[in-house]
Amino acid sequence: MTPKEKVEKTKTSNKRTPLRMCIYCREMFLQNELIRVVKTKECEITIANEGRINGRSAYCCHKADCINNVIKKHLLDRHFSVSVPESVYEALKKEI
Ligand SMILES: [Zn+2]
Repeated sequence: MTPKEKVEKTKTSNKRTPLRMCIYCREMFLQNELIRVVKTKECEITIANEGRINGRSAYCCHKADCINNVIKKHLLDRHFSVSVPESVYEALKKEI
């Protein structure tokens, strides 16, 4: 086994569950407890709860307070440094 293969194996067998931070309340949650918003390579912003889309991610928890504030303060715009279309915020609202 080459050293590189050894590293890969350690990575994939790592059972620690990754925690992600809600962009509003900044609490840590399991990834599957959060709403994932992704900026794709094409600079499109989309809600990606299936987790199959690659790109830079932002996470928001399901608390109505967080979702409402993310929408009101346009926190996704700030996180991704782009103008996020209103349709994304509307989709987020439906997650409450
Ligand atoms: Zn939150």
